[in-house]
Amino acid sequence: MVKTGIVYHENYLKHDTGDHPESNVRLITIMGLLEETGALERLISVHPKKATIDQVRYVHGIHYIEELRSSCQKGVDRLDLDTIISSDSYDVALLAAGGVLSAVDMVIKSLDNAFALIRPPGHHAESDRGGGFCLFNNIAIATRHVQLCLHLDNVLIIDWDVHHGNGTQNIFYDDPSVLYFSTHQSPLYPGTGSIEEVGFGDGKGFTVNVPLPVGTGDTGYFYVFNEVLAPIATEFKPDFILISAGEDAHFADPLGGMRLTAKGFGFLTNMVKMIASHTCKGRIVAALEGGYDLTGLSYSILSILNSLGDLGIDVKEPKKIPKDDLSDQLRNRVREVKKVQAEYWDI
Ligand SMILES: [Zn+2]
Repeated sequence: MVKTGIVYHENYLKHDTGDHPESNVRLITIMGLLEETGALERLISVHPKKATIDQVRYVHGIHYIEELRSSCQKGVDRLDLDTIISSDSYDVALLAAGGVLSAVDMVIKSLDNAFALIRPPGHHAESDRGGGFCLFNNIAIATRHVQLCLHLDNVLIIDWDVHHGNGTQNIFYDDPSVLYFSTHQSPLYPGTGSIEEVGFGDGKGFTVNVPLPVGTGDTGYFYVFNEVLAPIATEFKPDFILISAGEDAHFADPLGGMRLTAKGFGFLTNMVKMIASHTCKGRIVAALEGGYDLTGLSYSILSILNSLGDLGIDVKEPKKIPKDDLSDQLRNRVREVKKVQAEYWDI
């Protein structure tokens, strides 16, 4: 039997963003569906601990950490136009980063894989600032933890959030030990993630961006994962795989324009599991990023967990699925990505 962990803590609800799309209702809805479908009782509950300042400093400067702490303490209500904070946000952000660390530790110790159901999200957070609803870069902190504390060399980050993870990319841009792979809608916030952004110095070739045309659905995503991710990841041979699992590429999402289905997220997870079983003993930790349609988000998470844990649940799509085909525009983008990455990979 597959042992799949789930990280959750009710304190994640204390990051109070009011009626902002990234609100605590997201986690409440997801947990409700996992309970209702019987998925929750078949997962192993992982208790998160707050990340320490030393752990957050793996990727963030002390100046930013201190600025966030004092802003929350002083009652500042936002970091920028889009990024709301409340008095508890600093502590919740530490618990979010710590949640991914706990998941990683448990996968090394006794679990096969895990999902960290955390907030606030992280992939837009740069080393010296938050932004885009993100405070600390949870996935980046976990990446360094894998390398520094668990002594594993190569980490693959798969970021399927509909937005490009500018923070994660920049943190590892010159680092050949971390392969950052992102699929994202383009054009869209934050505007980074072009095909030509491949890394810098020794890190050249270790950033793989696949900007996708609006309307890309399950077929398009499978095509990209098969044609680009699978061969590069197999050649890279990661020791651990982390997924920046935002589900705002679901077709019902109000912030994205993609057409992935809940089942589609499950299939993508299966593809990552296949890569992980060939390269890194199946070690995968996924962490929540975006996803703003409550139904689309919760069914997508159920589908991902269904796949991670082989739960055997027949995940029904709650809304009418839009038309899906492989556009010439997408094929051309993939051709361009392969042309650029062929300089670094056997692709
Ligand atoms: Zn997003």
